[in-house]
Amino acid sequence: MSDCIFCKIAKGEIPTDFVYQDESVMVFKDINPQAPTHLLVIPKRHIVSAAEVDDLSVWANLMGRAVEVAKRLNLDTPGFRMVINTGEQGGQTVSHLHLHLLSGRHFGWPPG
Ligand code: 5GP
Ligand code: ZN
Repeated sequence: MSDCIFCKIAKGEIPTDFVYQDESVMVFKDINPQAPTHLLVIPKRHIVSAAEVDDLSVWANLMGRAVEVAKRLNLDTPGFRMVINTGEQGGQTVSHLHLHLLSGRHFGWPPG
């Protein structure tokens, strides 16, 4: 999608500090980090939100790579949080599916 910021990042049209990419997924640093480590994991293909996923392989790639990156960065000890805000009330502000991978501080529950 031509006016989507995350599509532009996925295509390399916007210089971005990315930590992993393959043919279907990209992982890069959030521009406004909410924790010492705050990464975004996106499908390179434009998918509006979690509610629009049409193929289970999208989840395998997104979640699989997210956990893989978390472990490679040693975030599994002491721990990390994965969040997918979905839709307006879900707190989604960018309409391209993304998984937040956060670590480096304690996260409370329930979330705000
Ligand atoms: P949401 O609120 O949709 O769950 O999360 C969107 C996230 O994208 C926010 O955490 C925001 O800081 C991040 N973000 C928005 N625009 C950009 C950008 O241009 N570059 C990067 N790296 N992150 C962005
Ligand atoms: Zn997009």
